Amino acid sequence: MLKRTGVASPEDIKGVTPSLERLSKGPIAIIECFQKIPCNPCYTACPRQAIGKMNDINDKPVIIPENCNGCGICVSRCPGLAIFVVDATYSETEALIKMPWELQPVPQKDSIVKTLNRAGEPVGEGRVVLVQDGRFFDRTKIIHLAVPKQDMMEVRSIERGTFK
Ligand code: SF4
Ligand code: SF4
Repeated sequence: MLKRTGVASPEDIKGVTPSLERLSKGPIAIIECFQKIPCNPCYTACPRQAIGKMNDINDKPVIIPENCNGCGICVSRCPGLAIFVVDATYSETEALIKMPWELQPVPQKDSIVKTLNRAGEPVGEGRVVLVQDGRFFDRTKIIHLAVPKQDMMEVRSIERGTFK
């Protein structure tokens, strides 16, 4: 499915979805990188050895859930924009997603935006909690987006034109 449509299959996503137990412990990176490609900045950037050793640059990255604290550094370093952080513990009703953003315009904090799934289809609405653009995130901005908890494994982008 990925090769044909560019969109990951439900099986692919299931394979990288953290356990409910791990999700209940706080933020974790979700690496949606499903093909063997010569790339490893996620692995070299992680300060917590939370991505398993990549012996070959073509190896697919694999998260080590107990080492990841959801810092998001890998999100900004991935040239494929394939890494997201999900925090299912953000609030009773909402999860927080940290997602890469390299487009213009950049949404402002507190904007209400339309959310999109991996295929670019509408999911619902989200609230921009923070746009991170600091020393560790100089190449790619990181949007912190609060979404209804049931959308946390669906939402992977926002619709341009739904914010200023
Ligand atoms: S979110 Fe932080 S700790 Fe987790 S894999 Fe990415 S860089 Fe490592
Ligand atoms: S940096 Fe991104 S594209 Fe490259 S191996 Fe890591 S997850 Fe895949």
